[in-house]
Amino acid sequence: MSLSLDPTQLDRYSRHIIMDEVGPEGQQALLDAAVLVVGAGGLGSPVVQYLAAAGVGTIGVADDDEVELSNLQRQIIHGNDDVGRPKVESAADFVADLNPDVDVETHEVRVEPDNVEDLIAEYDFVVDATDNFRTRYLVNDACTLSGTPFSHGAIYKFEGQVTTFTTEEPCYRCLFPEAPPEGMVADCATTGVLGALPGTIGNIQATETLKCLLGAGEPLDGRMIFYDAMEMSFEEVQFRPNPDCPICGDDPIESVAEVSYAEESCPVNAD
Ligand SMILES: [Zn+2]
Repeated sequence: MSLSLDPTQLDRYSRHIIMDEVGPEGQQALLDAAVLVVGAGGLGSPVVQYLAAAGVGTIGVADDDEVELSNLQRQIIHGNDDVGRPKVESAADFVADLNPDVDVETHEVRVEPDNVEDLIAEYDFVVDATDNFRTRYLVNDACTLSGTPFSHGAIYKFEGQVTTFTTEEPCYRCLFPEAPPEGMVADCATTGVLGALPGTIGNIQATETLKCLLGAGEPLDGRMIFYDAMEMSFEEVQFRPNPDCPICGDDPIESVAEVSYAEESCPVNAD
């Protein structure tokens, strides 16, 4: 790593650089880092926004949706004029306006078993910002098998949950071995969500991403935070690795190609 912060960057990131926990080396590490955000919706918006502002040098955005008017109540990186545009393009324009240091790599694709491993391969950290069980398991399985740390966030009405998966701790499948049968859990666009709610969970995901890239603090791994906006409460639950887990257990599979992922009728980014 070579330090090459120019005077503009020293100014832009001065509130980072002044802290011992970040410093110029930490800022350079952020600028040199590549993060993939899967989903440019309610959770992905604050994640993209804060990672770009913080100077994460490469942000991949994977999403195959277009911006709809009903998204704008919570998906804050998209604007009125973006309705009908691909979300990845809207996200890239937002970042370009915020911070020219950041390269956005747009992936206008649906995450599938045959592309997920290639998609995450170029990235240091992955943010699961979808609200779709198929994509959630694909991201978990591909990241865990490749040793890529990632953040998981999910939202529902007035509640959210968030955790970080590192290579040291259990994976999402240790907690929830299989997706619930379709129809059992409301996970679609038909479910409401409070406008500011994804901001709370997404900001925790962005914070965890920056900490991981900086190697600072204690990751939110092996524990999940449950947020209840109505009660305004945060509850932390610890969980353990499952030695029988097919992804991170004693006898793991080698590729997501060995797993069958049920099709879902929900749109990929219904958050
Ligand atoms: Zn596991």
